[in-house]
Amino acid sequence: MPDDLNDFIRNRIRDDLAEGSVEDGVITRFPPEPNGYLHIGHAKSICLNFGVANEFGGSTFLRFDDTNPLKESDEYVEAIKRDVAWLGFRWVGDEPTFASSYFRELYDFAEQLIRRGKAYVCSLTAEKIRVTRGTLTVPGEPSPYRDRTVDENLELFRAMRAGTYADGEHVLRAKIDPASPNINMRDPILYRIRHATHHRTGDTWCIYPMYDFTHCICDALEGITHSLCTLEFEDHRPLYDWVLDNIDINFHPPQIEFSRLGLEYTVMSKRLFISLVEDGHVMGWDDPRMPTIAGLRRRGYRPEAIREFCRRIGVTKSENRVEMELLEFCARQDLEDTAPRGMAVLDPLKVVLTNYPDGDPGAPLEGPWHAQQEMGSRTLPFSSTLYIERDDFALEPPRKWRRLQPDGMVRLRYAYIIECEEVIEDDDGRIVELRCRYVPESRSGSDTSGLKPKGVVHWVDAETAVPTEIRLFGRLFKDKEPATDDLAASLDPESLVVSHGYIEQAMAESPEERFQFERTGYFMRDTDPGVFNRIVKLRDGWKPNAN
Ligand code: ATP
Ligand code: MG
Repeated sequence: MPDDLNDFIRNRIRDDLAEGSVEDGVITRFPPEPNGYLHIGHAKSICLNFGVANEFGGSTFLRFDDTNPLKESDEYVEAIKRDVAWLGFRWVGDEPTFASSYFRELYDFAEQLIRRGKAYVCSLTAEKIRVTRGTLTVPGEPSPYRDRTVDENLELFRAMRAGTYADGEHVLRAKIDPASPNINMRDPILYRIRHATHHRTGDTWCIYPMYDFTHCICDALEGITHSLCTLEFEDHRPLYDWVLDNIDINFHPPQIEFSRLGLEYTVMSKRLFISLVEDGHVMGWDDPRMPTIAGLRRRGYRPEAIREFCRRIGVTKSENRVEMELLEFCARQDLEDTAPRGMAVLDPLKVVLTNYPDGDPGAPLEGPWHAQQEMGSRTLPFSSTLYIERDDFALEPPRKWRRLQPDGMVRLRYAYIIECEEVIEDDDGRIVELRCRYVPESRSGSDTSGLKPKGVVHWVDAETAVPTEIRLFGRLFKDKEPATDDLAASLDPESLVVSHGYIEQAMAESPEERFQFERTGYFMRDTDPGVFNRIVKLRDGWKPNAN
């Protein structure tokens, strides 16, 4: 991990450490709500929280913010744990922590606020509360229940907890300032009634604490030294501080905000992704087109690529939308060094070598199994029937064509030069076969033919190559900034193109998961058998700015 990062958060931590205000080491947390799968935006927060703790010798809690039983589930908890671990990070303790583990403490702090005259039970309807809280320009009005006595409040709050009331009949509110210029401070709701089964606490509770009340207390209880969150919480910071200042707790973490990651050509919200999954617009949360961690993993991204992406985008306070090309660039750069190269034909055109003596003609052909470095080699079965890429042949080639054409020659990668003698079409005029002659003296490595064809094309041997479904992914959305109110309308119907191709035998039998298919891109074995996913195309000329 590079320790030379200089963003404002790391600089602040360096200052705190230098001043001695952080005595027992840096402690951070990543606090997802288990209401969906994590996306690449979360990866930014994960890399930041776990990253700074690693760099400064501290530790990080993975804490689930599970205060809304209607939306949360164990499936999401497990998926989030898997994703954080896969990204390469270890949280404090064997198991993560949960806001729900602190429900008892949270409840006691709520009673403490009531006893101190700092919270009251409000019996307005949700709608009425919304209206009386005012707007950005209109101050709120005090609730008619604001002056209930401590005893009355305690009694009502206990009855709320005991299940006496239905959802929505009462809420507990902080008694701060109904007319505050900051809407979040206008007597915010601290607790609400929800008769719902919680994924961890079952039916123990029927009142649930709100995020703003819960989060700061959990941070304090866990001794978080730097509570890093995204900018939309900046206006909540006074409330974060108010709660901790008004209860008996001996720790007060600072909340520090940074900007959310936005990415072009996608949205970035669990809530929106749920609709894509539930409405069947994608194969699931791990659809390789989804910008979820699970989707990127299935697509073929390695954690190294995602961490590098997060390093490059950095941490600032300015909102921006990062280009999708940067993410693709990071994948490509990582795969260049790690994915061995093999041959696959995506859109096959049959080639018959009319002069090739079938049966074993001698030593087998070899191809190096290299990425950047040599990684050994594999044999390349060869016979009189091969496949090449359909678009490596042109009946009427454009100028400067370097591939195959009628009466033209081309080299087959690691093998022989072939010359096209005859083009066979079916009744509809579609080319179905090329009849070619191979040049026996042109074998790669011992070429004595003296021929110098301009092009080299990839190929596979028809007898031994393995039929493979190859999924070519484009962007899930066709708009740079998809409209969130009608997501389905922004989907690109051509974001998945399935091609029925062939991969060479050695790749099909290899334990490797990722390959560079010569000339076509980087590919990953899918969880569906017999399927490969295109992770990313080969170099596209795009370059990142600085760094
Ligand atoms: P979503 O709308 O996708 O559910 P969220 O912010 O509600 O996002 P949480 O589960 O509450 O999701 O997020 C956990 C942590 O991840 C929070 O600290 C949040 O600030 C951070 N986070 C979420 N989205 C992004 C993003 N796009 N960029 C950076 N950090 C993010
Ligand atoms: Mg949320």
